[in-house]
Amino acid sequence: MAWRSSAASNRGLIENLAKNGLIKGQPESAKPFSKVDRAHYAPSTPYDDSPQPIGHHATISAPHMHANAVEALLPFILPSDARPAPRVLDVGSGSGYLTHVMAELVGDQGGVVVGVEHIAALKELGEGNVRRSEEGRRFLEAGRVRFRVGDGRKGWVEPGEEAMKWDAIHVGAAAVEVHAEMLEQLNAPGRMFIPVDDDTSQLGQHIFWVDKDKDGKVTRTKQYGVRYVPLTDAPKGK
Ligand code: SAH
Repeated sequence: MAWRSSAASNRGLIENLAKNGLIKGQPESAKPFSKVDRAHYAPSTPYDDSPQPIGHHATISAPHMHANAVEALLPFILPSDARPAPRVLDVGSGSGYLTHVMAELVGDQGGVVVGVEHIAALKELGEGNVRRSEEGRRFLEAGRVRFRVGDGRKGWVEPGEEAMKWDAIHVGAAAVEVHAEMLEQLNAPGRMFIPVDDDTSQLGQHIFWVDKDKDGKVTRTKQYGVRYVPLTDAPKGK
């Protein structure tokens, strides 16, 4: 499934992802991908279905991984009567691509996506990339998408919004565990999409869905093997 979706244009890439069954929840999940040009985020071959380096040992994840993450989190990102203003946290926002795509989905009734990066230069990169489109600029001005510098292993609490939890948490780098603070900040109900390096099994990294139901009961479901850059301490001086 990994590399078949490459194309010569953003539209072709999204069409191929849909054709290959990687974007299933049409039209809701395909629409935001078509609205965000990956060329604003990937420095080279933006329409290849592969990860690309973006500096500072970070990579923009492959389109099929972004598609898969959105599919997984979609029920918690889309506004509904019960959740008119979804709140989404993107840990390790890197290029800002997925942060922007998710901001397309949260609606305009107060939905928010916050990207957290531990490298200030990458926080600036992500924010600058979002600024490259008119819609991105509008989202930034409205506070619908926000970029912050911090250690995402602690999750993130927005100043002035301390009581508010996250309906969906996307983690874009591999964690050694499901960090307690992140889990505490997940709403009930809510879902976290997180690559975890499962050392104990020696089987390497896997995507986990960590679901909290309305009563706060947590269920972890192991999905499939992946290779993400690790969630680490910030390099010194960054
Ligand atoms: N979703 C991003 C992925 C970028 S790669 C994209 O597709 O562009 C993973 C990112 O996680 C890197 O940018 C890295 O700097 C960041 N990261 C690693 N450890 C972190 C931490 N402890 N807190 C916040 N960000 C972290």
